[in-house]
Amino acid sequence: MRAARAAFDGAWGKLAPVEKGRRLMALSRAILDHADELAWIEARDCGKPMKQARADAAACARYFEFYAGAPDKLHGDTIPYTPGYTVLTWREPLGVTGHIIPWNYPMQIFGRSIGGALAAGNACVVKPAEDACLSLLRIAELASESGLPDGTLNVVTGLGREAGIALAQHPGIDHLSFTGSPATGTLVAQEAAKRHCPVTLELGGKGPQIVFADADLDAAIPVIVNAIVQNAGQTCSAGSRLLVERPRYEELLERLAKAFGALRVGPALDDLDCGPLIRASQLERVRGFLADASRDKLPVAGQGAIAATAPASGYYVAPTLVRDVPPSSRLAREEVFGPVLAAMPFDDEAHAVKLANGTDFGLVAGVWTRDGGRQLRMARAVRAGQVFINNYGAGGGVELPFGGFGHSGHGREKGFEALHGFTALKTVVLQHG
Ligand code: NAD
Repeated sequence: MRAARAAFDGAWGKLAPVEKGRRLMALSRAILDHADELAWIEARDCGKPMKQARADAAACARYFEFYAGAPDKLHGDTIPYTPGYTVLTWREPLGVTGHIIPWNYPMQIFGRSIGGALAAGNACVVKPAEDACLSLLRIAELASESGLPDGTLNVVTGLGREAGIALAQHPGIDHLSFTGSPATGTLVAQEAAKRHCPVTLELGGKGPQIVFADADLDAAIPVIVNAIVQNAGQTCSAGSRLLVERPRYEELLERLAKAFGALRVGPALDDLDCGPLIRASQLERVRGFLADASRDKLPVAGQGAIAATAPASGYYVAPTLVRDVPPSSRLAREEVFGPVLAAMPFDDEAHAVKLANGTDFGLVAGVWTRDGGRQLRMARAVRAGQVFINNYGAGGGVELPFGGFGHSGHGREKGFEALHGFTALKTVVLQHG
C-alpha cells in the first residue's frame, strides 16, 4: 500500500498521459511475447485446456492494448451555466485501487480490471486467488520490465480471509474492485462501506439461453454447447440455463444430446473440451447438484466422457445436459460453476421473460430468434448486464461494458465505460464576471 501510494504521488502520477499509455502498450506487447509461457502457467495452475489458456493470455494483452489508448483521451467537459461563470469538469484518478481476483480466469480478469484502473491514472494493489496466482506474479515481473514505475502495480498473494480481507479493510484504498462469489462480495462491500470506499462487484450468474421456435439451430447449437463447456463451466457468464420454445424443445434437446455425447474431458495439456475443476470442494459442489437432480428423477439427456488419460483422483466431471428442470429447483436457480446445462421448455414470449428473470442473478443472456421486433423486446425485458442476440459471448469482447444486476453485482468493467468507475468527476466553477 505504501509503495502504491508513493507511485501514485510520484513517478506514475507525474507521467504524462501519453507516456502512461505507452507503458501500458509495452506491457501488452510483453504479454503477447510471453503468451505461450503464460498460457502454460495458467493451464497448469487452473487445469484449463491449453487453447483456453492461450485465449486468456491473448485477451489479457488485448485489455492492455485497448486501455493503452485511453489515458490521453479521457477528458472532462465544459458546462453552460450562468453568464459570468465558466464551469469545467475533470476526470481525476481515485488514487490507490484494490483488486481481488478469482481463480477461474486470472489473466483475463486481471487485464480487464487493472488495465482500466491504470489507464485512469491509479496505482493498483492486486490480490489474486489462492488457487491460481502464478500467471499474475509473472505478469507483474513483465510490468516491471515494461517500464511501469516501481509501486504502480503490486501483486500480493495470500488467503482471502487474511490478505483479501486486509485489502478490503485497508484505510488507504480509494476503490475496491471485487470479482468472485456473491457471499464474499457482500463481506468485501460491508468492509468498504465502513469507510465509504466505492466498490465494483462482479459476482455470479445463471445465464439463460432463450431459443425461440424460429431460431437457426445450426448456428445456435455449437454456441450453446461452448457457453456451458468453456472453462468446464467455471465461468460467471456461462450460459447455464436453456429455455426453449416448446415446438422445437425435443428437436433441440436431441441434437444437443449428440453434441454433449461427443465432449471429452481430460488433463489441461491434453487440450480436450474441458479440463478438471479447480479443487476438490468445487467437484463436490457440482456432484451435489447432479445428485439432487438424480434424486428428483430429472432426466439426463446427454453426457460427455472423461478420457482415459485423466487420473482417477483428479477433479473431473463429465459435461451433463439435464432436461425438464423445474424453474423452482436449485439446479434452475443457483450457480453450479460446472459444465451442467439445465433445460426447460417455455410457451410464449411472456413465459420466456418470466423464466429468464426468475433467478436472483442478472449478468448475461442469449436470445435466439430471427424476429427483429422480438429481438429488441427481449433485449429490453431481460434483466442482464449484457444481452446477446443470435450469438453469445461468455466473457468475450474487451470493448463491451460488462457487469450485473441483483446478485450478479454492480458497477461496470470493460470498455471505455469502466474508466468512469475508476475516476471521480470534479466540477470546477469559476466566477469571472
Ligand atoms: P471467492 O469469493 O471465494 O474468491 C474470490 C476472491 O476473493 C479470491 O481472491 C479469494 O481469495 C478472495 N476472498 C475470499 N474470501 C475473502 C474474504 N473474506 N475477504 C476478502 N477476499 C476474500 O470466489 P471463488 O469461489 O474463488 O470464485 C467463484 C465465484 O466467482 C463464482 O460465484 C463466480 O460466478 C464468481 N465470478 C464472477 C465473475 C464476474 O466477472 N462476474 C468472474 C469470475 C468469477
